[in-house]
Amino acid sequence: MDSLRNTPRALSNISSQSSIDSLASQCVLCGLCSTTCPTYQESLNENRSPRGRISLIKAIANQELELDDHLLEHLSTCLHCFTCMKVCPSQVNYAELIHYADKELYLSGRTPPLFIRLLHSFLINNKLHRLAKSSLHILYKLKIVSLLKRLGSSRILAYLPNQYKKPNEPAINETKHLLITGCANQLLRPELIDSSINLLKAINLDISILKNEPCCGAIEFRSGIANEAELVEQSLTQTDKTYLSLNSSCTAHLNDYKTNTYFELLDYLFENHWQDLVKLQFKTDKKNILIHNSCSRKNRLKINSLKDKLEQLLPEQIFIEISNFSCCGASGTYSLERPELADKIASPYVSAIKEAEVNIILSTDTSCGLHLKHQLEQSQYAIEMMHPVQFIYQQTIN
Ligand code: SF4
Ligand code: SF4
Repeated sequence: MDSLRNTPRALSNISSQSSIDSLASQCVLCGLCSTTCPTYQESLNENRSPRGRISLIKAIANQELELDDHLLEHLSTCLHCFTCMKVCPSQVNYAELIHYADKELYLSGRTPPLFIRLLHSFLINNKLHRLAKSSLHILYKLKIVSLLKRLGSSRILAYLPNQYKKPNEPAINETKHLLITGCANQLLRPELIDSSINLLKAINLDISILKNEPCCGAIEFRSGIANEAELVEQSLTQTDKTYLSLNSSCTAHLNDYKTNTYFELLDYLFENHWQDLVKLQFKTDKKNILIHNSCSRKNRLKINSLKDKLEQLLPEQIFIEISNFSCCGASGTYSLERPELADKIASPYVSAIKEAEVNIILSTDTSCGLHLKHQLEQSQYAIEMMHPVQFIYQQTIN
C-alpha cells in the first residue's frame, strides 16, 4: 500500500511563475501523450492535447497569453484523468501544471455554470449537504423524485437512485477504523454505505463513520480553490484511525495531502482481512461482471486491479476488464457540465461493454459508474452498477 503515497501530485503551492515555467519546460514536445489523451483523440485539436495545454499554461504563466474564452475552453475540457502522466518519458508533472491553470481560471472569475456551482455547494457545504439529505428523504417518501424522473430527462435526475433511505450511522469515533463514505455517495448511493457497513460487520471489523463527514476537498481543489480544500482535510487526520474510503477519487485526493494514509476499502480488506472474507458463504448465480478501473485508481493511486482477488473470492462469476480505453469521460461533475463531450468520450468503451454482454459494472468511483450506467440505459441496455464491496455483500448468503 506504499503505492498510495506515490500519487502524481503533492498539494503543495508551487505555482510561482518560474516554477511553472521550469515544470513546463521539462516537456520535450514528443507528443507521445496525445495518443492516449481522450480530449485530443475526440477533437484532434492540438490545444486539447497534453502537449498543447502545457504550452498554453506556460504562456499564461509567462504572461504571453491572456485568459480568453478559447483558452478557457481548451484548459477546462481537460478531464484530469492523468493518463498523459503515465506515458510521459520526461515525467512531466502535468497535474501541478493543470492545477495552476485551474487556480488561474478561478482567480480570473471564470467559474462553472450556475447549476454546477449549486451542485458543488450541496456537496461541499456541510449545512447544505445535510439539508439535501433530509430533503431527498422527504422527496422520495412523497414519490416526487420518481415522478420527476418519469417526466424529466435531465441527467442529474437520471443519476439519482430509484429509492433512497438515509444510510445507517454506526457508533461515532470510538473505533479503530473510520469509513470515509464520500459526499456524493451519501446522496446518490446510500445503499452502498449500508452494504459496506453490513459486510464489515459480517467479518467482525469495527467501523464508524463521522456524523457530519466533510467533503474531502477534491471538488474545491479541482475548481482551483486549494486553500479551503486543505482546511477540509484537517478533520480527517486523526493519527490513531485507519481511514477506509469508498470512493477512489476521494482516496486519491486525500492521499495527495501526504499527511496520512487513506485506503481503498476493498484493497484494505483483501490485504488485511482475506481470511475473514473467504469464510463467508456466497451465492453462485453466474453473471458477466465488468471491473471498471477508474483513472483515479489506475493513474493516481496506481493500485492493482481487483480482478485476481475477486476471481479467487467469487470463482463462479465471470469478471471482465476492458483495458484499451483511457478514460470514460465522467470525471467528477464533468459529465453533467459537458454531457455531449463526456458521452462521445465514453462511446467506444460503452460499445465494448455491450459487446462483452456485461450484466453488472463494478466501480469504485461513483461518477464513472453513474455516467456509464446512464449511457447504457440511454441505448435501452439494462445494466446494474455497484461498488465491488456492495457486490460482495449482495453475493453473501446471510
Ligand atoms: S489529464 Fe487526461 S484529458 Fe487532460 S491532458 Fe492529460 S490525458 Fe488529456
Ligand atoms: S509525453 Fe511528456 S514530454 Fe512528450 S509531449 Fe507529452 S508531456 Fe511533453
